Amino acid sequence: MAEKITPRGVDYSQWYIDIVLNAKLADYSPVKGCMVIRPRGYAIWERIQAEMDRRFKETGHQNAYFPLLIPMSFLKKEAEHVEGFAPELAVVTIGGGEELDEPLVVRPTSETIIWSMYKNWIQSYRDLPLLYNQWANVMRWEKRTRLFLRTAEFLWQEGHTAHETEAEAVEETMKMLEVYRDVVERHLCLPVIAGRKSEAEKFAGAVATYSIEAMMQDKKALQAGTSHFLGQNFGKAFDVQFQTRDGKLDYAWATSWGTSTRLIGAVIMTHSDDKGLVLPPSLAPDQAVIVPIYKNDTKAAVLAYGEKILADLKAAGVRAIFDTDDTQSPGWKFAQHEMNGVPLRIEIGPRDLEAGKAMVARRDTGEKAPIEAVALGAAARELLDAIQKNLYDRARAFREANTKVVSDRAELLAFYGADQGEDAGTAGATGGFAEGLWCGGRDCEAALKAEAKVTIRCLPLDRQEGVSGKCCLCGAAARHRAIFARAY
Ligand SMILES: [Zn+2]
Repeated sequence: MAEKITPRGVDYSQWYIDIVLNAKLADYSPVKGCMVIRPRGYAIWERIQAEMDRRFKETGHQNAYFPLLIPMSFLKKEAEHVEGFAPELAVVTIGGGEELDEPLVVRPTSETIIWSMYKNWIQSYRDLPLLYNQWANVMRWEKRTRLFLRTAEFLWQEGHTAHETEAEAVEETMKMLEVYRDVVERHLCLPVIAGRKSEAEKFAGAVATYSIEAMMQDKKALQAGTSHFLGQNFGKAFDVQFQTRDGKLDYAWATSWGTSTRLIGAVIMTHSDDKGLVLPPSLAPDQAVIVPIYKNDTKAAVLAYGEKILADLKAAGVRAIFDTDDTQSPGWKFAQHEMNGVPLRIEIGPRDLEAGKAMVARRDTGEKAPIEAVALGAAARELLDAIQKNLYDRARAFREANTKVVSDRAELLAFYGADQGEDAGTAGATGGFAEGLWCGGRDCEAALKAEAKVTIRCLPLDRQEGVSGKCCLCGAAARHRAIFARAY
């Protein structure tokens, strides 16, 4: 209920946890750092998954499944890869009561096991491309965890493709980044910036990493998906050579790309409010709830009216429910459905019945208006579309209002102010996205991170033309335009 939610302005981090727990999306597990995804949370994941999966298949990909356990030696074959993942590995050393000859790692990501198999499946250019995706769980032993955003085990999809040429692999990398951008913006209503990661922030083992970055309500960035161009790094590490069209041997070119249950955290953090969850209608398990208001003498008529409205909504393609529980008051139900993020609430009482109307309330804006019952199906569909659009527009306006172009270090540091830590509220939150010129230097970036916990989120793809001037951090000649932020 509403009184259990800590206001965003007071403690954003606690507000987030309150929503996840009270809206019954997830719970803490007996194993530290892991989470239980409850049915209401899993239903959101299934909708994200369905849309992503549809888009993967449209772009020619197939699903497959590879084992959870990977021989430790596989990870060591790609030097950067093992270095990047070693600190987070969970390792199995005993099986069936006996010490294993070789330790097995619980997959933190599957490049190595998949490329060990690609070696057997790729002999000729005719075997390429291989466009595979898997839906799976992975494990990264994180020390500081937060439900959905960072947990030791999480659900995701990982695409792993093998190509004949560098150009094809680069094209695939960018194509999947664009699929992510489109699904996340259209379906999850999260406006994102697509860009390339700096060397320091790229995936361990990649030649180049690209990401989409969203802004949360506390003005921090959240990486919502990544797409990696892996060059021939894994082709060489696993000796995946193929006969080319002109009869030579070459190593296969690779990409990988992933999105995870972290997206659920991003949706919550972007759209929700102090009353609870706010969901894009396309993700909401229930899009409309009918709440009847009656006394004993009007009960039968109001319930019959509600059944008729429910049927009309379903016929119009709206995922609607009718809350006929008579052990709770209408006021209690209003609060509960607001907590759960149902986009539309339809109130019906004896007077609405007489007038042939229903009172319809929007979860996103709180606006209420009477609507003719005969037109309710079409009106509900229109309202759901309007909510979907409003959530995106609102988040985008928020990001724009909290983005600042900076020209030097002092300006950038003043924009961020002192780091208030993770438990601060949004009321006094400083910063946002800073856009500035950058020299490309690793040390330059590292110094900023150490001083202000601000990192380069990405080098936005559509803003790299005509870069000239000085690095806003160190004054050296600039090579890129960068988006800076504190990040999850
Ligand atoms: Zn610099």
